[in-house]
Amino acid sequence: MRSESDGPGGANAPAEPDARAERSREAANEAALARMREQGIVRLRVPTPFAVGRVNCYLIEDDPLTLIDAGPNSGKALDELGRQLAEAGHRVEDLELIVISHQHIDHLGLVDVIRRRSGAEVAVIAEAVDYVENFGADAERDDEHSAALMRRYGVPDDLVEALRSVSGSFRGWGAATRVDRPLQDGGELALRDHRYEVQLRPGHSPSDTLFWDAERSTLIAGDHLIAHISSNPLLSRPLDGSSERPKALVNYLGSMLRTRELDAELVLPGHGYPITDHRRLIDERFEGHRRRAAKLEALIAAETRTPYELAQAIWGNVAVTQAFLTLSEVVGHVDLLIDAGRVRERVEGEVVSFEHTGGEADIPLLGADTRAGPLGRLDA
Ligand SMILES: [Zn+2]
Repeated sequence: MRSESDGPGGANAPAEPDARAERSREAANEAALARMREQGIVRLRVPTPFAVGRVNCYLIEDDPLTLIDAGPNSGKALDELGRQLAEAGHRVEDLELIVISHQHIDHLGLVDVIRRRSGAEVAVIAEAVDYVENFGADAERDDEHSAALMRRYGVPDDLVEALRSVSGSFRGWGAATRVDRPLQDGGELALRDHRYEVQLRPGHSPSDTLFWDAERSTLIAGDHLIAHISSNPLLSRPLDGSSERPKALVNYLGSMLRTRELDAELVLPGHGYPITDHRRLIDERFEGHRRRAAKLEALIAAETRTPYELAQAIWGNVAVTQAFLTLSEVVGHVDLLIDAGRVRERVEGEVVSFEHTGGEADIPLLGADTRAGPLGRLDA
């Protein structure tokens, strides 16, 4: 995750907010939090060492006493979680069920520590059970997978090695845990007073899981939708062990369309404030992806390039320090262009480049708006 102003999402950076708009946004945020509290849900804001800042964990005061997500594995995060639980009149030891929204370490790192302390059961989408139970080993395989992908996409060897040691040092913020309750996509997570439909909506990660309370029109969304930043559809290793790389952005756009159909009044995200206008937000995200696809297409039409060269053309030095993130953005959008027959892969040695085909067919999921042709709009 990253903020829109410093990363590949910078296209949508807001203009200087005027004070009145700021105040009305604050009032709307407070009202949304109050509606959440009326449902017996408490937002716990747990610190992380990552650029995204604090992660939201949600306490559902029900039977069983349930925590959605747990924060990263650190003493500081545990202290804060305990302090905020105490403010709400509970202790870590009182927790009875921990539900994981997706496989990222800022959401699952503390689960095992809390499980041991409280005896709580752990629930996660069935597709991610192996990943969560084998976290250390799987994270190592993730790093190998990422390194191989980065080389294939044109990142120089020395940079790949440097980035790999950085991601290795992050691994301690995660942890493996035993899963007691695998959740089924389309199944139910039933507490005494809350019933949530479990919805697997991959994209940001392969295990993104949403919890839909139709009675209260409330969606607990993890990092699937976040108001102040656009969720990165990250390149990921497939959870089922297949060799086919998941098309993260293609999956993510499809998942967002399904979420758009929900009559949600309140969406509780993994970071930041509740969302009360998810359709508008999803439409904005689609527009952002349309612009980015058009920009990438224009760059490819002008010159055949590797994904790393494309990332550098758009983000400059950020493509070096955040190579994996920016490559995920490039490859995610180029997947759409390839599916439309507008771009094709060219492999030289071990390295992939993208070249334009001259095709102009509609882009799946993004529709006709991008048909500005190969030299489409460059305003992204
Ligand atoms: Zn995440």
